[in-house]
Amino acid sequence: MKIIKGNNLGLGIKCDYMAVGNSVEEVEEKIFDHLEKEHKETLDNLDEDDIKDLKYRISTLAGRSCGCGAL
Ligand SMILES: [Zn+2]
Repeated sequence: MKIIKGNNLGLGIKCDYMAVGNSVEEVEEKIFDHLEKEHKETLDNLDEDDIKDLKYRISTLAGRSCGCGAL
C-alpha cells in the first residue's frame, strides 16, 4: 500500500488530500488527478523540470511508505 499526502509534495500548498494505491504509478496518477482538479493554478505554474522533480518526490515518498503508519 502506497500513500502520498498533498502536504508532503513540497509544493507549498495546503492540501489534506491523500492518494492511496497499490503502486507508485497508481498514487502518482491519483495525486496528479487531484492537483489538476483542486490545485490547477499550482500545477500550471510548474515547468517540465518541476514536474520531473515532483514525480521523483512522489516515487520516493511512495517507495518509503508501507502503510503501516510508521512514517
Ligand atoms: Zn489538495
